Amino acid sequence: MKLSRKRIIYPFYHFVKENDDVITKHLYKAKNKEEFIRDLHFFKKHFKSISQKDLLSKENYKKQFNFFLSFDDGLSNFYDVVMPILIKEKVFAINFINTNFIDNKALFFRYKINLLIERLSKKQLTKEEKNLVKKEIGSIVFNYGYLKELKYVDTILIDKLCRCLSINISNFLEIDTPYLTKQQIKILIEKGFYVGGHSKSHPYYLELSLKDQLEETLESVNFLKKTFNIDKLFFSFPFSDNGVSSDFFKETKKKNILTFGTAGIKDEVTEINNIQRIPMEYNTVYTAETIVKGELILYFIKRLLDKHIIKRK
Ligand SMILES: [Zn+2]
Repeated sequence: MKLSRKRIIYPFYHFVKENDDVITKHLYKAKNKEEFIRDLHFFKKHFKSISQKDLLSKENYKKQFNFFLSFDDGLSNFYDVVMPILIKEKVFAINFINTNFIDNKALFFRYKINLLIERLSKKQLTKEEKNLVKKEIGSIVFNYGYLKELKYVDTILIDKLCRCLSINISNFLEIDTPYLTKQQIKILIEKGFYVGGHSKSHPYYLELSLKDQLEETLESVNFLKKTFNIDKLFFSFPFSDNGVSSDFFKETKKKNILTFGTAGIKDEVTEINNIQRIPMEYNTVYTAETIVKGELILYFIKRLLDKHIIKRK
């Protein structure tokens, strides 16, 4: 950390597994409670947990190394499983929320893909289902690989596939309640946690125009500001900030929004107010110690090759 000349690391998660995990299990390996607590103990041993207030009042954290923890996607799992652990461990976290999904109003397309894969893994398609898929979509090689490649722009197709396989998304939202409700968000703010925007509907920003990127960002952040009376504005990019131009950051800077990416330990040019975070979930479970040490080593290599600063148009 001394060599990196950094005072803060920014690890982020989505989900901590308690029982069977029906929305993320085919997308990446979420940690279970024991693994997550082990991560927290590693962080706490070497870093101090800081809140959004500490982060903004820069003088507070100069004395020691710190970590600023975040959770993306606004899942109710944070309320049910993560929050009690964080309270016990005295660790702060911010939740980055997709505002269209609050109160279980809609489901992120990647979670629909997870439901489709889950269905395929449990039971072979019946002849009727195969015919229905063929009639609705045409001939496709319908397997895990195909499903995993589907994008935000394929949402209509994904919805059709769900219907063909009798996966009822509205029922799922109503029964499984994967997302935080407004009431739960109010309670977690009362308990000292914080919220930021994560776009309205979780698109890939590289595929959007600048106008749409700004709309997704500002509307999500303003909704949270208005609904939960928060004064400081935070935002994390859905997927990544790949290809997001410096014009975008000029606008968010004007509006006093602090943004967060997902590129690991990496720097931005000084005019850009964007902080890169460290993903903590992969296809294999790695401990926080392995991930953080790996990121630091990678950062030194990038610095040697002069690739540690993100270049933007
Ligand atoms: Zn996300």
